[in-house]
Amino acid sequence: MTAVSNRYPTAQLRALDAAHHFHPFTDTKALNAEGSRIITAAKGVWLTDSDGNRILDGMAGLWCAQVGHGREEIADAVHRQMTELSYYNTFFKTTHPPVIALAEKLAEVSPPQFNRTFFCSSGSEANDTVFRMVRFYWDQMGKPEKKIIIGRWNGYHGSTLAGTSLGGMKAMHEQGDLPVPGVRHIPQPYWFGEGGDMSPAEFGIWAARELEKAIDHHGEDKVAAFIAEPIQGAGGVIIPPETYWPEVQRILKERDILFVADEVICGFGRLGTWFGSEYYGIEPDLMPIAKGLTSGYLPMGGVLVSDKVAAGVIDKGGEFYHGYTYSGHPACAAAALANLEIIQREKLVERVANDIGPYLQARWRALGEHPLVGEARMTGLVGALELVPEKGNRKKAFPNTGTVGTMCRDISFRNGLIMRAVRDSMIISPPLVITHGEADQLVAIAKKTLDDTHAELKRRGMI
Ligand code: PMP
Repeated sequence: MTAVSNRYPTAQLRALDAAHHFHPFTDTKALNAEGSRIITAAKGVWLTDSDGNRILDGMAGLWCAQVGHGREEIADAVHRQMTELSYYNTFFKTTHPPVIALAEKLAEVSPPQFNRTFFCSSGSEANDTVFRMVRFYWDQMGKPEKKIIIGRWNGYHGSTLAGTSLGGMKAMHEQGDLPVPGVRHIPQPYWFGEGGDMSPAEFGIWAARELEKAIDHHGEDKVAAFIAEPIQGAGGVIIPPETYWPEVQRILKERDILFVADEVICGFGRLGTWFGSEYYGIEPDLMPIAKGLTSGYLPMGGVLVSDKVAAGVIDKGGEFYHGYTYSGHPACAAAALANLEIIQREKLVERVANDIGPYLQARWRALGEHPLVGEARMTGLVGALELVPEKGNRKKAFPNTGTVGTMCRDISFRNGLIMRAVRDSMIISPPLVITHGEADQLVAIAKKTLDDTHAELKRRGMI
């Protein structure tokens, strides 16, 4: 078996990619003019490209490689499963051992109100499932008029029609007349960017009460659910002020509305707890999951269903007309099980809470001293640096939002570290297995990248 990368030189691979590959979330024409970077191998936190460069994967792929890359244990589990039962569905009154074992394992590691999982293949499908399950629940409960789902501006819940609609990415909405009917959005708890003259604590309360206002405006009898990420990931690692979640929880406790915590990024140890809602002490009724469920080894998502929701969508009886060919795919379930076993055996959740989390946070926050950085924030192993033209003034942003972020991201790549740019902030979310030495390297490269970006901005007369 020969990998493509061994047969073709980089230039040829690039040309073939440009000719035939339409990239997701990419201006593919612009990319083709520049050429893709070709990743050929990965081990632990390190990627290798087709020119032999080693790059530190500061994003764990796309926020998913909790246990790091290249774990043979997971590959072996998948191989074993594929030779035994490569595929069978779960529609025909049938099931199979790996999906049973995984559903049981998820009930074990999740908060006590969760005992059932509906499986799918991605975070987007998980949120499509949420959309339909929430409405099915209220139908089953005899309240079919409860239809509205409230999300947040700049939230991200995936790229399918329901995912895009529940999310609050305006540019995505503009392509194709979204959101679909029945979805509303409220402001996000993004103090650095939108807090105005309020303190973080005041702003957290204000943002939470926007939910109260929205529910009361539409009427509790019309609102089905509120969906939110514990920490917004794709929106720019928005870590809410401490006052935010307790106030949201109070508002929801007083009202009969389902609470959906999108755990696609925050789940599986990212915040030093199994799920992000546990970090914030909030009690969701549904939790969409994906990414860290398999550490990205195979595609799999799901929705954890609380006993409260199960009482409507399962215990009352009646078919839920929803499901996917690959719901509970045996090989993906085997990958998830092997992955979760590693997370438990290597105590990665505890490691993020007590060891590598605090270690990296302290060093990351110190980057806040850099003249280009307006704020350096991190919880668990997910962090952001806000790049600003004038230190100390968070109300002044660079012109043409995204230009400086993209420049910094490209410099970081060249320096050997993958950080993601969101607007003009730099994001990291490294594998949970990153060592202390690798964390030091990550911070050193991030620091050099900030210095190089600063110098480049000076050269261009932009600061
Ligand atoms: N929800 C959240 C919070 C996400 O971050 C993402 C992906 N970044 C999704 C849903 C969608 O997941 P997928 O890309 O697997 O469809």
